[in-house]
Formats: sequence, C-alpha cells, structure tokens
Amino acid sequence: MVFIPRRVLFEKDALNYPLGQELYRRFVREGVPVRLAGSHNRITGIPGKTPGEAYLEAKRTLVVGVRRTLKFETCRPSAHYQLPLATSCSGRCEYCYLQTTLGNRPYLRVYVNVDEILEAAGGYIRDRAPEITLFEGAATSDPVPVERYTGSLKKAVEFFGRQELGRFRFVTKFTDVDSLLDADHRGHTRFRFSINTGRVISKYEHNTPGLQERLEAAKKVSGAGYPLGFIIAPIMVYPGWEGEYRDLLAQLRKTLGPAAERDITFELISHRFTARAKRRILEVFPATTLPMEEETRKFKYGQFGYGKYVYPEETMELIGSLFRDALAGTFPGAGVEYLV
Ligand code: SF4
Repeated sequence: MVFIPRRVLFEKDALNYPLGQELYRRFVREGVPVRLAGSHNRITGIPGKTPGEAYLEAKRTLVVGVRRTLKFETCRPSAHYQLPLATSCSGRCEYCYLQTTLGNRPYLRVYVNVDEILEAAGGYIRDRAPEITLFEGAATSDPVPVERYTGSLKKAVEFFGRQELGRFRFVTKFTDVDSLLDADHRGHTRFRFSINTGRVISKYEHNTPGLQERLEAAKKVSGAGYPLGFIIAPIMVYPGWEGEYRDLLAQLRKTLGPAAERDITFELISHRFTARAKRRILEVFPATTLPMEEETRKFKYGQFGYGKYVYPEETMELIGSLFRDALAGTFPGAGVEYLV
C-alpha cells in the first residue's frame, strides 16, 4: 500500500530547503507531474466533478510546503502538544475525523522545514522543564505514508531520543515501517497502531492495509525496542461485535507472541459523529453505511461549541465491560489510557 502521488505541488519557498529540492528532483525523475503553487493552505485546480471525486483526487495529491506557524496546538487527551510533520493521509476512512477539520482541503501536505519544527519543539520542552513534555505526531495526519519521501518521522524519533525531557508518540494504520526500525529512539517514542475488527476495516477504512499486516508491522516495531500502543477506534456496536472485538485482541496477542508481555498501552474510542461530520461524510460517501442515526445516540455538548452523538450510557457500559474483561484475559499487564 505504497503512496505514489498522481501530482505534486510545490510552494515556491519549499524549494529553498534541501528537502524541497530533493523532492522536486525525485518526482520529476519518477515522472510524477509537478507544478508550483501558492500557499499550501490554498491549493486549487485539483480535478473532480463531484465531492466524492474531488476527495479522491485530493487524497492522491501531495503538496510540499513550509510550515509557517511554529506555535503548536495542544493535544488532549493523548499528549501536551501536536507535532506538525504532515497533514492528511492517503487513506480514505469514511469516519475519519479529518473529514471535518480539513473540510474540502483533504490533500496531503508535508513540510520541508522539519529542523525548524523540531527546534520549536525543543522550546516547548524547555518551557515545561523539569516536567516531561509529550508530543503527538499524528494529530492531523497519518504520518507513515509520506515517510518514504520525507524521512521526517525518523528525524523526529531520533530528535526525541536525544531529549531528556521530551517524549513522542504517533499512530498509524500503515505498515511501511522498515525505515523506522533502526532509528535511535532510546525508548522515547511510543509507536502506536490503529486497529479494528476485520469487518470495520474492510467496510470503512479504504486504501489502508488489512488487520494482519498491521499486526505483523507492530510485531516488527516491538522487536526494534519501541514501546508499543494500540488505538482501537472507532469501536462500533453491530450484530456480533462482542465476539469480533474479542477475536481481534486474541489475534493481536497471538501475533505478538512474547512481545505481548512488554510495555503496551491501549486507547479505546467509541464511534461518535457530529452533525457537521455527518453532512460531509454523506457528501463524499453518499452510499455510506456508517451508523449515524441521531435517535439511537446520546447528544453530548462538546468543548468547542458543537455537540457530538455518542453511544448511550448503557452501550458505553457494555463496551467498557467487554474490553476490561477481554484485555484482562489477553494483556493482563497492559495499561488502558482512556475509554471514551
Ligand atoms: S488512516 Fe487515519 S488519518 Fe488517514 S483517513 Fe484513515 S482515519 Fe483518517
């Protein structure tokens, strides 16, 4: 599942950086159409007559730019700050939270000024010393599909390896992880995989690797000494869900083998949607079968002034007790960071 863009757009300023120049030469050599563009925030001219086509073509478009804002967003509950290495990803998960945050700009973006970004991270670490500061590398992207072009994730992993008081984490559904295996991480990066039942993956997570491939990649990563984590999201309640989530954990345990005894965390996120996300998902995937009937959900007011539809309390209790029980049987030593 290698990401090969159909077109690459370069911000002019990106060509002042060695990575920008290298990527320009590489894509020209590989015969990928390249052109110059204005700001990476205002890209126009991506083909597509319907919202669905425009989304698909945007997900095949790479924009190489300079990250100008070096003020990082906060990132609760998984970290203190977001580390902006990339935006969007080549996957096309129907439920993706980026449907709303990126709206009609879902094209992939990478930033050539990674040294400046990491330098800014160093400033945030110094500000919070002697506390540890934790950065999330996947808040606005899945950073792995573009790693073969930029090497930014490896640079970040090694940067945090050198930080006494800085820690890093990111999450991926992708399995092209070999270039990260020999990174000098010193245990400061938690490498997480997003997993789900085979049914949820095949129905909703288009253009992403299958479950077993992700589990094999996780095993490799654990073999390279990284602390490991799994995000199970979105947890969906459908006929047979309990058995399938139990099977998922059993399959994970079996694939990891002795690695399952090491430092592993779980983050559990139940399926939820906002009115805005639902509108956008129906535009892009008009035939979606995502369960988005408001009357079956509880409405919860959100912190940014818009509410979300979550499972009712009884269902949340069922989800909680299923995972408590199944994890106690398969990963007794593992920590559950949160269930929402
Ligand atoms: S892999 Fe992650 S970031 Fe990419 S579309 Fe799927 S949910 Fe969104």
